This record gives sequence, structure tokens and C-alpha cells, in this order.
Amino acid sequence: MPLETIFIGFGSNVGDRQDFCDRAIALMNLLPLSQVTGVSSYYETEPVDPGGTLGANWFYNGVVRLETSLSPNRLLDILQETERGLGRTESNREGPRTMDFDILLFGQEVIKQPGLTVPHPRLHQRRFVLEPLVELNPAYKHPTLQKTMQELLSELHDTSRVNKVAIKPGEKYLSRPACSLPPSS
Ligand code: ADP
Ligand code: MG
Repeated sequence: MPLETIFIGFGSNVGDRQDFCDRAIALMNLLPLSQVTGVSSYYETEPVDPGGTLGANWFYNGVVRLETSLSPNRLLDILQETERGLGRTESNREGPRTMDFDILLFGQEVIKQPGLTVPHPRLHQRRFVLEPLVELNPAYKHPTLQKTMQELLSELHDTSRVNKVAIKPGEKYLSRPACSLPPSS
């Protein structure tokens, strides 16, 4: 696969949401054939279906930018496995979730398969996705709508509340312990 610039959205609205997001970012840094090149701020965001299946808890959301040679399907498999690793189960698949990953953009690729639609079909309708995308790449063009992230945000009607959180994302799990020396003989 050629190297592509891609954007992955993440969100958590149960338990220690900040900690789940920090873990998610640490795991994005371990993806094979990939390099994280940007992480947005965290945003605390109102659930978009109050009274619906998501529950009343506000989310922590953000977006990670990567360069990757993974295929979209391989990436989706890994992200779903990582969601499970972070405690997401079938019982919280529909409702409150410890971690949700969405492939928002995969270069300029347009994918319509039964289990994978890219660009993400609701990307342009969601403030909690567009605000972090604009923070990372305001001039990035949506491959089918042919508008930049900044243009999509300025045309948006979503009135749900999205508040930037004043903490640095993702650093907690990024430092690596120093290697211990081999035992001396
Ligand atoms: P949502 O994120 O819409 O709240 P889920 O995370 O439960 O819901 O995802 C439901 C299904 O969406 C997944 O099984 C996955 O196959 C499918 N899907 C389709 N397109 C995408 C995409 N771009 N990113 C992530 N999942 C996707
Ligand atoms: Mg999802």
C-alpha cells in the first residue's frame, strides 16, 4: 500500500475518559507501518443523541493524524481489536462506550463497503469531529464534498456543545521505561 495521510477520530464517555483517550493515543503510536504526525486537543462534548442510546455522559473526543501504509480494512480490524482491548464489549457497543474509533478520512480514498464507509458518512455533520480536524488541518479537502474542513465547520448547523479541554493529550503512556542492562556475568 502507498503511504497515506489519514485521520482517526476517537471518543470515550464512560469511566476515566481522559485515561482511555491517553491509552488510545499510546496505542495509535504502536500501530504497525504507521507514524502519528498529529494529535488534536481533547474536547469535552455533549452526546449528540440526548435521551438516546449513548447515555447522558459527555464524551472526550479528539482526532489523530497518521501516515500509514496499512490498508483501510487492516486498519479497521486493528482499531476494532483495540476497542475491545480498551474494554469495549458488545454490551456497550451501542450505548456508553469506553472507546470508539472511527476512520474519518483515508487520504483521498472513497470506500463504500458493507462494513466500511470512508470518508466517515457523518463527519461533515458533527462539530466534535470537525473542530479537532480543523485544529489539525484546516485546509484539508473532503474528497467527495470538495470543501475544506474549515469550510465544512463554518457551514455546520450542529449546535451541540464542544469545549476544548485545557490539558495536553496523550502523554501519560508515551514515555518508555529505560531498558535494563543485561545481567553481568
Ligand atoms: P458508531 O461509531 O457509528 O457509533 P460503531 O463504532 O459501533 O458505531 O461502528 C459500527 C460499525 O461501523 C462498525 O462495525 C464498522 O464496521 C462500521 N464502519 C463503517 N464505516 C466506518 C468507519 N469509517 N470507521 C469505523 N467504523 C466504520
Ligand atoms: Mg465507531
